[in-house]
Amino acid sequence: MDERLAHLTKRQIDELIARYYNNEKPKLLIEEYKINVKPSQLVKLFPPRITDEICPYCNINLVIKRTTRLYSWSKETPTCPSCGHESNGFCWCRNCKEKEQIRIQKERQDKQELMNSLLQIKEEDKVEFESLSFEERIYLGAFLREGISEDFNYIKPIETFINPLAPTNDYTNEILALLREKRLIVIHPSSDSEYFEDIDIEQGRFRFYPFKVKWALNVKKNSLNKVPLVEALMNPDNIIDSEASYHLWRKIALHEALEYFYHSLNNILGVEYSPGEKTISVLNDLINDYSVSQIYTIIYRSTNNALRFQAEREVSRKHAANTIIGNAQSFAERAKINKWDVQRYNRLKELPESALSKFFFERILKIGFAGFNERPRLIPQTNNEVDVN
Ligand SMILES: [Zn+2]
Ligand SMILES: [Zn+2]
Repeated sequence: MDERLAHLTKRQIDELIARYYNNEKPKLLIEEYKINVKPSQLVKLFPPRITDEICPYCNINLVIKRTTRLYSWSKETPTCPSCGHESNGFCWCRNCKEKEQIRIQKERQDKQELMNSLLQIKEEDKVEFESLSFEERIYLGAFLREGISEDFNYIKPIETFINPLAPTNDYTNEILALLREKRLIVIHPSSDSEYFEDIDIEQGRFRFYPFKVKWALNVKKNSLNKVPLVEALMNPDNIIDSEASYHLWRKIALHEALEYFYHSLNNILGVEYSPGEKTISVLNDLINDYSVSQIYTIIYRSTNNALRFQAEREVSRKHAANTIIGNAQSFAERAKINKWDVQRYNRLKELPESALSKFFFERILKIGFAGFNERPRLIPQTNNEVDVN
């Protein structure tokens, strides 16, 4: 209670407040009740209205501050005089914030527990190492080399990879889908639970972010435990399968060409482009005769032509972009007929070599840069038996 009201009885104070809110002039009220305050400040001396609501944290009654008659609608929220808690449902007092944090943490723990039960890795469900195809071994090897954790316990989230797994996102998605479908990798239980949604424990269903979760290798080999098994996949020797290698080389080449094609469109013409059948078919045809480094040159040339075409004819960039592939095709054909030596480009800093390409050309085919500088060809078969000369 303000000392400037101390000379009044409780009944007088109640009466004074009632008269104030009944629109009597503060100046006259001050004189009558002998209060030492400016008329405009009178309301500030009034004790707050005590409500029946109790603060859940402090166990005392919430109060409503008196406001001037003009703004009596503005602050009607019961508030705790001790901790500041407000009973309006959107309170951010210290106590409410703490309570909310505890709730969020509990929710996260519950979710993590649910996830762990869904993501359990069972030894008997693992796939036999011997059953892996050549292609699967290459994808797994590249995936492990780029992503395996220090302790070999899990594969890091793809979005944290330093080098891309494959030249294009489409290809990365395709690899991921294949490895998951064959159950060669499974989501690792230590993945952050915030990357899972719509969890249905009963149905064992959930949605998740495939580039954000951690992965576990789901392959077994009787004689090998964790570390040597991962090493066997990352450092294979003499496993070339000629036919399969040729197809994989072509596929990597196609996606490296596409990667450069997207990059040129985006950088030089500023258009986003999703390749149609024709683009894929023309690039596939170029791969018969040219290395990726030469296809870079062909695309570079055609993109520049498109840019000039766009400027001279004042057509839209999109329209100009549509001419690139046809242009590349006819140039490549003329070059072939005339036996021109098409120049070789280097890789671009902005398009670092993918983990897949590096692993395949360096470790498996052992041809290094030739994977980029030569057109795909058959590489002689090797197998695990030692050649006796
Ligand atoms: Zn309180
Ligand atoms: Zn509160």
